Amino acid sequence: MMVNTGTAVFCADIGGSFIKFGLSRQQGEVTVLAKVATPTQSWDEFVLAMQMLLNEHGAEVAADAPLAISTAGLVSPQSGEVMATNIPSFAGHNLAAELTQILKRKVSVANDADCFALAEAHVGEGLGLPIVVGIILGTGVGGGLVFNGQLVRGHGGVTGEWGHGAITRTELLLDNKLVRVPRLLCGCGQSGCLDMLGGARGIERLHFELHQQTLTSHQIIEGWQAGSFQAVQTLNAWLALVSEPLTLMVNILGATRVVVGGGLASVIPLIAALDQRVRESTLHKYPQPLVVPGKFVNQGGLVGASVLGRQR
Ligand SMILES: [Zn+2]
Repeated sequence: MMVNTGTAVFCADIGGSFIKFGLSRQQGEVTVLAKVATPTQSWDEFVLAMQMLLNEHGAEVAADAPLAISTAGLVSPQSGEVMATNIPSFAGHNLAAELTQILKRKVSVANDADCFALAEAHVGEGLGLPIVVGIILGTGVGGGLVFNGQLVRGHGGVTGEWGHGAITRTELLLDNKLVRVPRLLCGCGQSGCLDMLGGARGIERLHFELHQQTLTSHQIIEGWQAGSFQAVQTLNAWLALVSEPLTLMVNILGATRVVVGGGLASVIPLIAALDQRVRESTLHKYPQPLVVPGKFVNQGGLVGASVLGRQR
C-alpha cells in the first residue's frame, strides 16, 4: 500500500444535517475549516455546496488536491451509488465518479463507519494490527472492517454491519427471572435486529420494556454507575444482547482488535464491561483488551477521510 503523506487532501464528513469540511496536510490530522448545512433534497445544490467549499479554501493548495468524503449511508463499490435514507439528493448518483468529473480532482467516498475503522486502523487504537473491526455504538449499531490497512468494501457496501439480521436470543435470565427479548421492526425491513436494541436508543427501549420507565440513555447509564437496581438490570440485558453477536463477529472475522466509536464509546466502564463479556466467550482467548474505545470517537469521519484520500 502506498501512503503519500506529503500532499494536501480536502476532507468532508457528510451527515444528514451538516457537512464538516477540512484540510489534511498529513494523514490523521485534519484542520476543520467549515461546517455548512447538507443540501439533502437537491443534487445540484449539493454539488454547488462542495464547489463553494473548495473555492473558498483552495487558495493555498494545489488546484487538483484530492477530496475524500466520509458519508452517512451505504456506498456501493459496484455502482458507486450512495444509499442514505436521510440524504435523498444522493439517490441515483455515483458520488465519487460524478464529483471527480465536476470538481476536476480525485474524489473518493466511503461510509462513515468505514472511515472510523480506517482512522483507527491507521492512526488510532488499531494501529499496525492486521484485522481491525470498527464498531459504532451510537443511536444505532454499525461497523466496518479494515484488513491489513485496506478497507474491505463488501457487496453493496455492506461489511461488518453486525446490527442487521435477527439476533437469535429470544429470552434473557435477569435476577432469576426469564425476560422475553423484544423483537422490534427495524428500519432495514427485518425484525429482531440488534440495531433496535444495541445503541443508545436501544438502551432506552430495553429500559422501557423491562421497567415501563421512559428515561434517556444518559440517565440509565448514570443509574447503572450509581448501582440502581433497575438500571443495572437494563444494562445487564444490554451487555448480554450486544456481547453475543459481537462475539460471533469476532469469531467469524478473527478480529485482532475491535475499536468502538459512537456516543456510547465515551462511557469507558460500559465498554470495559462489554470487553470482559466478549473475551469470556470468544473461541480463542485474548489476554489483552479486545473491545476498546476509539481514539477518534468524534472525528472518525474526517480523520478516516484523511486516510482514505491517500490510499490507492
Ligand atoms: Zn435491521
